[in-house]
Parts: sequence; structure tokens; C-alpha cells
Amino acid sequence: MDKIKWGPRLPTGLLKKLYRQDALGIQDGVLCEEVGLYLLNRCRTLILVYRKEVECPVCKKILKVPPEGTIFCTTDGCNWTISKKEYGEGVKNHYAYPGRAGAAYLKYFENYPTTKTYQEKIILIDTLIHSFHIDEKTNEPKKSIASKLLEGSKDGIIKFLDELFSENTDSNKEWREMMRNTIHGAKLK
Ligand SMILES: [Zn+2]
Repeated sequence: MDKIKWGPRLPTGLLKKLYRQDALGIQDGVLCEEVGLYLLNRCRTLILVYRKEVECPVCKKILKVPPEGTIFCTTDGCNWTISKKEYGEGVKNHYAYPGRAGAAYLKYFENYPTTKTYQEKIILIDTLIHSFHIDEKTNEPKKSIASKLLEGSKDGIIKFLDELFSENTDSNKEWREMMRNTIHGAKLK
């Protein structure tokens, strides 16, 4: 049976290279697009899981994930199927729990394909990486969503971003201030 196409998390090395070059004034359009599309694919996976949907890997139809039992593709002649259990294992193995950041993924997913310039792309990438899960009750930022998007452990990613962002200036001050109020804030320098 064909496997679900999960969008992987972005290797941090690619993001680091992009930020380093940008800080030096080098606008590497190819690298920027590579990072941008990687994150686009990752957001697509997170949005699907968030909506309790899955794409049939054979015919590309978007299917509803039932609370339990089996997922069957509803396209005539397409026999793709997967058990809910196997689907759940896929979500787990690909760290595809979306958390409460549906809006951040969606904003990126809808806007990135319309971008044309390097500058537009890198702003969207930067905004996405700087996004937070929002607490449903207080509407306050609760924790960084970066661990949903980047490879590595949560603590490792926070340290990585702390170092990465400290090399730039603009949105980073705000990010650091917000981070200090979240559960991972203690990991900052
Ligand atoms: Zn199908």
C-alpha cells in the first residue's frame, strides 16, 4: 500500500545558512526558495492533521480521518486504505502534532506561493519561525512553534534559535521578550 507523504521538518543547518548569508547581505534566492518550499510542505502536513484530513498518496484526494477504524479512499477505482492506528503512528513518527498554531501555518501556506521576491519570501519564513502557539483562554503566546517546523529536540531548537536570532536585530527582540514568558523561557541565555 502506498505511504502517506508527510512533509518533514526542516534541517536547522539550512535555516542557519540562510540567516547567516542574509546577515552578510547575500540574497541567495535558490537557498531561500529551498527553505521556503520545505516549510510550505511541512505546513501542509500540519494543516491536514489539524483539520483531521489526509491526502490519498495514490490519487491525491483529501479524505476525512475518522475517530477510529479505517480510512478508505472514496475515489472510484482507487483502493488505497490505511488503519487509523497506522495513520496515528505516522503522525507520531513525523512529529506532525500541529498544536494550537493552525492560523500561523495557514497564513504561511496561503501566502508563500504568491510571493515573488527574495525579500517577501524571507519575511514570511522569518514570521513563521517566530510564531507562537496561542493559549485559547488568555489569547497570550504560550510557546514557540519552531519545534513543529525544525528538526531536533525542543530545547535544542530554542537554543539554536536564540543564537541564530541574536545575530539579527529586527523581530528578535520581541521574540526574546515573548519567549521569556513561555515555558521554554528558562532555556534562553
Ligand atoms: Zn485515492
